[in-house]
Amino acid sequence: MGGQRFDAIIVGAGFGGIGAAIQLSRLGYDNILIVDREDDLGGTWHVNHYPGLACDVASPSYSYRFEPNPGWSRLYARGAEMKRYAENVAAKYNVRRFMRFNTVVQGARWDEDAGVWRVALAGGETLSAQFLIAATGYLSQPHTPDIPGIETFTGRILHGAAWDDSYSLTGRRVGIIGTGSTGVQLIPELAKEVAELTVYQRTPIWVLPKIDFGFAPAVQRLFARVPVTQRVLRWFTDNSVDFLMVVAMWKFRYFKGFNRTGEGLSKILRFLSIRDKELRRKLNPDFDFGCKRPTLSNTYYRAFAKPHVHLETNGIERIEPDGIVAKDGAKRFIDTLVLATGFNVWEANMPAIEVIGREGRNLGKWWRETSFQAYEGISAPYFPNFLTMAGPYAWVGLSWFDAVEYEMRHMDRLFSELQRRGARTFEVTEAANARFMDRMTTLLEDSVFNLGSCANSRSYWFRDRTGKGEAPLFRPTSVRSAVKEQDRFPLSDYAIA
Ligand SMILES: Cc1cc2nc3c(=O)[nH]c(=O)nc-3n(C[C@H](O)[C@H](O)[C@H](O)COP(=O)(O)OP(=O)(O)OC[C@H]3O[C@@H](n4cnc5c(N)ncnc54)[C@H](O)[C@@H]3O)c2cc1C
Repeated sequence: MGGQRFDAIIVGAGFGGIGAAIQLSRLGYDNILIVDREDDLGGTWHVNHYPGLACDVASPSYSYRFEPNPGWSRLYARGAEMKRYAENVAAKYNVRRFMRFNTVVQGARWDEDAGVWRVALAGGETLSAQFLIAATGYLSQPHTPDIPGIETFTGRILHGAAWDDSYSLTGRRVGIIGTGSTGVQLIPELAKEVAELTVYQRTPIWVLPKIDFGFAPAVQRLFARVPVTQRVLRWFTDNSVDFLMVVAMWKFRYFKGFNRTGEGLSKILRFLSIRDKELRRKLNPDFDFGCKRPTLSNTYYRAFAKPHVHLETNGIERIEPDGIVAKDGAKRFIDTLVLATGFNVWEANMPAIEVIGREGRNLGKWWRETSFQAYEGISAPYFPNFLTMAGPYAWVGLSWFDAVEYEMRHMDRLFSELQRRGARTFEVTEAANARFMDRMTTLLEDSVFNLGSCANSRSYWFRDRTGKGEAPLFRPTSVRSAVKEQDRFPLSDYAIA
């Protein structure tokens, strides 16, 4: 029992897994396995390639601080560039050699006697590792809605996370379900090509103007030759977003005006894009700015002003072989159904694999029976030598790299101490975990999640999407404070043996 043995097994070859592997390499580990069920690296940016996919964080901020990319083509780079960036970083830091693709991890169990993780793969193979790192992201399990009749549809179904690039949309009659971040990027692109587009909207979204521009080759050369110039730009894109998140989300109690300003900007954009008052009303969100990830687009609202684009807000009754019937009985005939219906964050992703720790504690069950919790967003009591890169309260700032990089710092301090003491295991203490959890809960009291009107947001940031209660994805602090804490957390918060 135990199969091949590694120092560390990392599940997931996206930016989280790549970052964890780079950090472990820096610490001197070389016997690492990165497992991914996909056929290449990049995670989100390998899987998603629908038309219009782009980063919604300014690209200088959406990259590892230690690996700036002077080659970004524009301020908000397109999805394919993220994928290329992942490939380049993996090559430069020589971590591709650790990767094994087309391999699904089913679960992992801590073997107390041997002091290792036993990791079960689909197909029956079991591997062993001293350390286990779940880097399975928050948004890696696509959600397909359970709409009556969907299985009878005879046209083509495309999911945002499983796009068929070879399928021509020209002249199609398309229905799209979902107006979240993916829908906002897809709808204007679909509207350019298809004959008829009906958008089925359950929850309108706040859309802000996107100040985007290309970087001329001369600017890219400047970024490459004088890196400080790109660092200055990054300083601005990092800090402006960090400041806005702190005031609009975490200090909502004192700064509601920022949220109202965001809403006002969105309303102005809608007013300038659409003449029809009733249409504007239907697109107006009924929840506070900040309850849900706002989106950026200059073309989303304008798409609805086109005569062949229709907005349907009455809800879907059923899907028939050749169309969609709304709750008011209106049927639209379609030949292509596009699902921009997001991801099963809470149902299938927290955690994405079954993890059984010491004394048989099941991570997913424990989280559900108590509350979603992880010390510094990354470790949990009863789970020795286990880290999760997309754990509860791990997401800080808007760019995912802020989280990955503070986690890498955490790893650096923790594993260095382990090495210094010649120890083999670490486990966060229950007291430290409880203290961290109490602090997060107290900080959230001032937040828009607690004091705002989020009930109609259906935001995946909330555990049960009711817009009330537990919202355990985000760390309600500034990025700067999260980063600093990783150099200072008391090492006595871990039992190291
Ligand atoms: C369409 C889209 C747009 C986004 N845009 C932004 C943005 O603009 N800015 C931003 O900050 N964030 C954005 N995000 C969030 C994005 O997920 C993160 O920024 C980041 O890419 C996550 O990296 P990750 O490595 O943590 O997870 P992922 O990229 O999700 O990678 C997880 C990997 O784990 C693998 N995996 C999962 N389960 C298993 C299993 N059981 N066995 C084997 N492998 C498994 C998956 O195949 C996947 O490759 C976006 C997400 C989506 C879906």
